[in-house]
Amino acid sequence: MNSFWQERPLSELSRKEWESLCDSCGKCCLQKLEDEDTGDIYFTNVVCDLLNLECNRCTRYMERSVLVPNCITLTLNDLLDPYYLPSTCAYRLLSEGKDLPEWHPLVSGDIETVEHSGNSIRGRVVVESEADDWEHHLIDWVS
Ligand code: SF4
Repeated sequence: MNSFWQERPLSELSRKEWESLCDSCGKCCLQKLEDEDTGDIYFTNVVCDLLNLECNRCTRYMERSVLVPNCITLTLNDLLDPYYLPSTCAYRLLSEGKDLPEWHPLVSGDIETVEHSGNSIRGRVVVESEADDWEHHLIDWVS
């Protein structure tokens, strides 16, 4: 039997279904550097100060776009070219016509598979207010 994300496009999901797709990996809260010439994105291990480092969830989710003006509230429009999202992001995968990975909580039934598969940022990051130059924090474990 197919699951809801396999049966219907993102545009037809309920708000609850849409939100449930987020695996709480936290990778989208990593600060990034962009090469102005090529547009290439480089991830750092620096995270927004508002992130809860235990559960990888925003502590001010409802107010985040006011408190952090460049924080993106993801919409279908943003997924037309989701180059700035990590390649494992559920929203990016589905918008690219791919399925969710086996470690995704909706597939595994266990939120801990995100960390066990090496896809959580938990324990691997530093908050923005304590970080020095972001160029010193470039990482290769997120693409
Ligand atoms: S990268 Fe995607 S799946 Fe991971 S926390 Fe961000 S929105 Fe959720």
